[in-house]
Amino acid sequence: MKIKTIQTGSTLVSSAVPNRATHRWKYAYTGLFQCRKNRIEVPVKCFYVTVGQHKFLIDAGWSKQVRTRPLRHLGFGLWFASEPVMKQGESAKEQLTGQPIDAILMTHLDCDHVSGLADFADIKVYASKEEVAFAKQKRLRYGTLAKDHDYHTFDFQPDTLAPFGKSCDVFGDGSVTAYLTPTHSAGSVIYKITEDERFALVVGDNGYVRDSWQKGILPGPLYNADNMKHCLKWINEQSQQPNCLGVYCAHEKDFS
Ligand SMILES: [Zn+2]
Repeated sequence: MKIKTIQTGSTLVSSAVPNRATHRWKYAYTGLFQCRKNRIEVPVKCFYVTVGQHKFLIDAGWSKQVRTRPLRHLGFGLWFASEPVMKQGESAKEQLTGQPIDAILMTHLDCDHVSGLADFADIKVYASKEEVAFAKQKRLRYGTLAKDHDYHTFDFQPDTLAPFGKSCDVFGDGSVTAYLTPTHSAGSVIYKITEDERFALVVGDNGYVRDSWQKGILPGPLYNADNMKHCLKWINEQSQQPNCLGVYCAHEKDFS
């Protein structure tokens, strides 16, 4: 397997986004009532995965539209909470020119993951039906961006090895497993990529940064705090397995 990290620019957010303990207010991650100068810049990554015959993207990062018309693309609320920063040529579509893509697998539908879908036409996009339903309900968090696409949804099956008891064999050949994780959002998904008894995890914003699972630091936006704690522990255990090749998350600065 090959997992190529694609950084699609970055985002300016409250320090409560990667670590909710930096502020007392539980909605501090929105950046409301905070000086914008104190924002931190975190990378926005997605991943181009090759395993067996499959070539696909996990998440889509920022669209190139955030360079030219960020407010129109995101709407004021999403722009305010996570202002995009992107240089010429940094969108996933621009970085993947000429590379085949069979599908895009979404970890969840927050704007910094879903925005880049606008640059890819006619590619199958997968998400959990739990996440699609949640995004339709929560207008403030998701805006209208997440609704602009048709999603193929996973048929989750009971799985005793899954962190929340449900998984889906995405391509039917054991190479990519989607685990439902109601943590960061109602229908977040972790992907396990498996080849020759070895595996890697792409965890979306379940682990916002590596410290999230290594030190058990809770990120700001949470759907269910207890589930997140359980999930971070699970990720940490998986990362210590001798056949684990790596854990990939969308916003870690230090590693790709
Ligand atoms: Zn994110």
